[in-house]
Amino acid sequence: MSELIRKFTMGHPGQMVEPVIWHFLEGFTMTFPAVAVYFAINLFIEYFNNPSVIFDKGYLNIALWMIGFFVLQLVISMLTFLRTFLPGARNSAKNKKDFIQKIKRLPLGFFSKTRSGELINTFTGDFLAIEQSMVGTFTGLFGVVFSCVVTSFFMFWFNWKMALAFYITIPISALIILISLKVLGKLIVSSREAKDDTAEALNEYLSGMKILRSYNQIGDGFSKLEGAYKHLRDISIRSESIGGSLLGFALTFVRAGLPLMCFVGTYMLFGGEIGLTEFLSIIIIGTKIISPLLTWIRYTAVLRMHYVSATRIDKVMREKELTGDKIIKNMDDIEFKNVSFSYLKGKNVIDNISCTFKKNSLTAIVGPSGGGKSTILKLIARFWDVDTGTIKIRGVSLNEMNVDILLKNISMVLQDVYLFHETIRENIIFGNEKVTEDDMIRASKLAGCHEFIEKLPDGYETVVGEGGSTLSGGEKQRISIARAIIKNAPILLLDEPTSSLDAKNEVSVQKAISNLVKDKTVIMIAHRLKTIKNADHIIVLDKGKIVEEGNHKELIIKEGLYHKLWNLQNKSKEWKILSGGITNEQ
Ligand code: ADP
Ligand code: MG
Repeated sequence: MSELIRKFTMGHPGQMVEPVIWHFLEGFTMTFPAVAVYFAINLFIEYFNNPSVIFDKGYLNIALWMIGFFVLQLVISMLTFLRTFLPGARNSAKNKKDFIQKIKRLPLGFFSKTRSGELINTFTGDFLAIEQSMVGTFTGLFGVVFSCVVTSFFMFWFNWKMALAFYITIPISALIILISLKVLGKLIVSSREAKDDTAEALNEYLSGMKILRSYNQIGDGFSKLEGAYKHLRDISIRSESIGGSLLGFALTFVRAGLPLMCFVGTYMLFGGEIGLTEFLSIIIIGTKIISPLLTWIRYTAVLRMHYVSATRIDKVMREKELTGDKIIKNMDDIEFKNVSFSYLKGKNVIDNISCTFKKNSLTAIVGPSGGGKSTILKLIARFWDVDTGTIKIRGVSLNEMNVDILLKNISMVLQDVYLFHETIRENIIFGNEKVTEDDMIRASKLAGCHEFIEKLPDGYETVVGEGGSTLSGGEKQRISIARAIIKNAPILLLDEPTSSLDAKNEVSVQKAISNLVKDKTVIMIAHRLKTIKNADHIIVLDKGKIVEEGNHKELIIKEGLYHKLWNLQNKSKEWKILSGGITNEQ
């Protein structure tokens, strides 16, 4: 039970207290009618025997009491509604916030093993499910069960034989319910998975629309989506028909108790074993108790469904986070010591690297594709934590550092720039309201994007398509450089920031980057060696190992891999010019 409560409240059991108290009260008032019925019938029958009794016994008084009970029941029901729904919505918002905070603290590795469709469904469907449970299904169960127990107590107290006849079918129903919950449990999990598949397929279909269209493959893309929906439909039909009919069966058995009780009751009535008052009272109580009993069963089934949702949320909440709470005031050199890292066990992408990225200088990382260059930047930004070895800044290991503080101190320009579906202004200032118009324009000019932004119909207010789809690669790259300039963080990580730029823009962006080096630790990955020729330090990475380091001159003299790459790139330049190549790629 405590596990159930922990999962549904996301570790805040206190959230259950208020709704449960109110549902209890509601359950209590729900038993009033059963008691009132007894007194009313008693009086009613006496009245038939002796009409004057109505005044003697203060029938009016009893009527007033009943009206009082009715009003109390109404008020408590209303308060229960208000006092469970409002805090329920508030708690749900708080729990969602915790969930987002949690996701923020998870290493990016989590996102490569978890599909985005699954997370979206968790955030929408699973949260809605546990919210419903907290408002009624789970917390309400306490009130319903309480009300059933109290009313049953009255029934047994009035006449245990008739009560027994009413409840004789319950064990059968309970057995069916247990079986159907088992079956339902499995079906719900597979239906959840099928829903994740459809969300994923839909997401893929919509975001890939441009490519699908350009290759005239819309039909193929759609068939995958259609397949996912068909699968979901089949599973839904199966779970509805199996789960639904089993439950219906159980409900029917519960309902069968009433006619059985009538039968036994009538037998006893004619046998003179009970009076009419007793007979009628129990029958009426029986009709009253049926509804909470059926609700109990329905709630249990729904709770089983919601439990799957709660477990899915719990799974994310239990993921290992990036830990660390150490805070350092000023950023400094970044020191790698015997660092190894692998995405997949056993295949080191970074292999025992030791090096220093100095402050106030530009360090370049170069080397063949797949050598682990981007991974180094991602380790610095703690997208992942290292497997062995340490990365330290001012003697503090990144593993022990507060991630928020670390990320505040890092600006990144990634290889695949992602822009948000917002205005260009929002994409550049990125929520920093302190940025003035002048600052923004100055940064954009430095990044070489001011000119083309000005030419757009709405200028800086132009809304960018999803992921930046309405802009060219070079334009997106320059906007993300402007964003990095605005952030002005002491660590600047650039992953091939000029790869999609033409020669003219490349030079100007290059200049902007060299202006940024002052007071900063700048690390830049470059494919075109010409762009980092003037870097203070160059690290040559191949197959996860540092094969050479030094400045351009030193590396050329060494005649190693750098020298080879340099010659290769210059040769291809000459070759292109000689063969009248289209544009100079260098
Ligand atoms: P570079 O930037 O030098 O081209 P990367 O650091 O991007 O190299 O990648 C190094 C190696 O790690 C490559 O073999 C690549 O396939 C692999 N890799 C990169 N990212 C992931 C990932 N998220 N999951 C698994 N393997 C990855
Ligand atoms: Mg890369």
